[in-house]
Amino acid sequence: MLAIAAILPAAHAAAPMARSQAPGFYRLMVGDLEVTALLDANDPWPEAIDELFPSLTVEHKASLRRRTQAQPSNDFSTIAFLVNTGKKLILIDAGGRGSAAGYGQLFDNLKAAGYAPEQVDDIYITHMHPDHVFGLADGKQRSFPNAVVHADAHELPQWQAAAAKGNKTAQAIVAKLAPYISAQRYQAFDGDTRFSPELKAVARYGHTEGHSFYVIESRGQRMHFWGDFVVNDKVQFELPEAVPPGEKDAAQGIALRNREFAAAARSDELIAGAHLAFPGIGRLRSLGLNYIWVPVDYAAIAPATTTP
Ligand SMILES: [Zn+2]
Repeated sequence: MLAIAAILPAAHAAAPMARSQAPGFYRLMVGDLEVTALLDANDPWPEAIDELFPSLTVEHKASLRRRTQAQPSNDFSTIAFLVNTGKKLILIDAGGRGSAAGYGQLFDNLKAAGYAPEQVDDIYITHMHPDHVFGLADGKQRSFPNAVVHADAHELPQWQAAAAKGNKTAQAIVAKLAPYISAQRYQAFDGDTRFSPELKAVARYGHTEGHSFYVIESRGQRMHFWGDFVVNDKVQFELPEAVPPGEKDAAQGIALRNREFAAAARSDELIAGAHLAFPGIGRLRSLGLNYIWVPVDYAAIAPATTTP
């Protein structure tokens, strides 16, 4: 023991703390499609989580507080998803750069994930709230110069109408779309639409007038992009009756959540949400009348094999 101690170097000075996180991207394959979740922001909830769902009972609130208050406050992720079909590079939502402090990390994370904004061919927007579209443009400059932006035809008119009445947020939203519209790089679709064998939109109006799901599929595997249909994984899966802020028709929202959650649990297919804890991807399991969110695990991806 003494001999070993004698050859050990003298103690180092304390190492400085790195104080940075791993790059905010997570990748998985869905059949032959490569999906990359891109973190745009982490935002602490502005209020205690249970206060955001005023319809909850006192018992529910107490149980949620016990289970969630021990978590770090960064409960609210904003995530965009990149899908490489092998022929096209597709972005689902564009993040909220400039909408609030800390938003816009999507661009660094896209680069860290091995891609550049110029490579994006198509952007599919779930809805046009600032945290989903502000990343589209910087002033009049398109941030994705080669991309065509797609959204449901019911979405933009509501913002244009509010903008015309002087609503500042709506004006800012419309300004983010404008550079694509004037370059004839904006295409609206009407309700359920199939774009290719790998991609379709499903109308899921409610959160906004043209809110859409997107579904990708390859080799029998599917992944459903739910946008803001569910905004908190710690509350809404366990309690589908919890009404999120801003929901206009509560009864319709609850019925729709119950229907979609049951279908997702039955199918065992992957769900991706724009504000679920990063990377926002997982599956649902049913538990009586409620559901459990099972997030994906971190895992390596096997390199592509070339067939001779
Ligand atoms: Zn959102």
